[in-house]
Amino acid sequence: MNWKMYIDGEWVDSKTGKVMQVLDPSKGEPIATVPEGDIEDLNYAIESARNAFDDGRWSYLTPADRSMYLLRIAEEIEKRFDDFVKMETLITGKPIKQVKSYDVPYTIDNIRFIAGAARIIEGKSMGEYVSDGTSAIRREPIGVVGVITPWNYPLMMVVWRAFPAIAMGNTVIIKPASWTPLTTLMLAEVVHKVGVPKGVFNVVTGPGSKIGEEIARSKKVDMIAFTGSTEVGKRLSELSSSNLKKVSLELGGKAPFIVFEDGNVEGAVEAAIVGGLINNGEDCANSTRYYVHETIYEKFINRLNERLAKVKVGSPFDENTDLGPLISKSHLERVKRYIDQGINEGGRLLTGGTIPKIQGHENGFYLSPAVIETENEESSIVKEEIFGPVFTVLKFKDYEDVIRRANDVIYGLGASVWTKDVIRAVRATRDLRFGTVWINEHVVVPSEMPWAGYKQSGHGASLSAYSLEEFTYIKHVYFDITGKVRKDWYNSIFKGS
Ligand code: NAP
Repeated sequence: MNWKMYIDGEWVDSKTGKVMQVLDPSKGEPIATVPEGDIEDLNYAIESARNAFDDGRWSYLTPADRSMYLLRIAEEIEKRFDDFVKMETLITGKPIKQVKSYDVPYTIDNIRFIAGAARIIEGKSMGEYVSDGTSAIRREPIGVVGVITPWNYPLMMVVWRAFPAIAMGNTVIIKPASWTPLTTLMLAEVVHKVGVPKGVFNVVTGPGSKIGEEIARSKKVDMIAFTGSTEVGKRLSELSSSNLKKVSLELGGKAPFIVFEDGNVEGAVEAAIVGGLINNGEDCANSTRYYVHETIYEKFINRLNERLAKVKVGSPFDENTDLGPLISKSHLERVKRYIDQGINEGGRLLTGGTIPKIQGHENGFYLSPAVIETENEESSIVKEEIFGPVFTVLKFKDYEDVIRRANDVIYGLGASVWTKDVIRAVRATRDLRFGTVWINEHVVVPSEMPWAGYKQSGHGASLSAYSLEEFTYIKHVYFDITGKVRKDWYNSIFKGS
């Protein structure tokens, strides 16, 4: 099928007529094309978003009115639940059981939360902070927001970034990842169906190096909300200095998973597998560095290998599949390079890391889950984001040592701790420099709680009421309450006699 982009409330081809192919990663075969948007297409979308913002057709609606649109969008996605599940599974290769029970229902819940939260944005209460006047705070939309999203949660990441923006009265131009644009375009179909005014929600497909960079360069775009790699986040920050646009970044991660000597090994291993394999190991919150106390290390490793042997690698559409393919050939090669590098840097491959043969999917981008143990804390598999089903396991002796090592990466997104000692658990929540710390759990993030990075995992927050504030300016308004022609304090500047 040949898809079109959504600009100014209409479905359009690229002005150049060029298209890009979308592949099924489980078979390595093309399934659709989308327009290869060019600068002219982007400028048209920016103009449309600019007009829709500047004439107030969206920003001057009441929060309740905007919220109603979001609730209708959630309802429409629910009506097309199976279509969204199938398409998200097809373009990403993630197991359908995950998409059905997590990606799509959670996305719907995220939208409903945002719709509700947008109606209760509060400032400080009005007050007399100087005796002559009353001060109040307004929260106002920033303007035109460029939203650039990754391929790992194509639908959810658009919602996490574009929906708080539009809920607060901004207009958006979305550039989805080129490997996975189709559910973003389906979302545009829903937005169109519920009658969101034209220009409020635009989708431009095309290469990040061209469209993404131009969004950052454009002086007519007021803010960028980017979710993706740290490397591209840095590039966008540089380019955004053209007009000092606000930049909100949700970037890479390298989550430590720390199991203390009193941790429940069985429970920790169950969570380790889920934390490591969720989303085919392509999740910024994946547990990737397993620090296990030396006294329970053997037990943990044996149990991990035993349980991983039961992981079913297969077709994303098979309900029994636990692990689908990686997103692309180049990404599969990158993950395999990390495994080789880990071994060259002193690690021992205990299991996996091979290319499984799956009938009917011989050209899919599959990799069996790999476990590598290492003592080399400086190894690239300990320090860098791999973004695949690779478990790096390390031993530790004491609290101070493990917390120092856990913190010693450029990232700071998520971390988990396994212990029954409440004092140690609370201390760890203070000492770990990550935006989320889980105790005896990993990866759970309710819509009401912020998802935010420390260090080079970015800044700004997704989800929670904080994500709505992210897309607003804060304005102080002041009312004189004396009615005097000359206030007393004027004398300190100009006496006039
Ligand atoms: P990516 O390579 O950084 O790409 C993300 C988006 O940026 C895509 O739409 C891409 O477009 C675009 N892009 C690429 N180069 C660009 C450039 N020079 N200028 C502007 N835009 C550009 O990331 P990814 O591989 O899609 O996603 C994986 C990364 O996302 C991982 O690092 C993961 O940790 C991170 N992530 C973080 C979170 C979080 O909440 N912190 C959530 C999900 C993912 P093309 O597809 O056209 O190249």
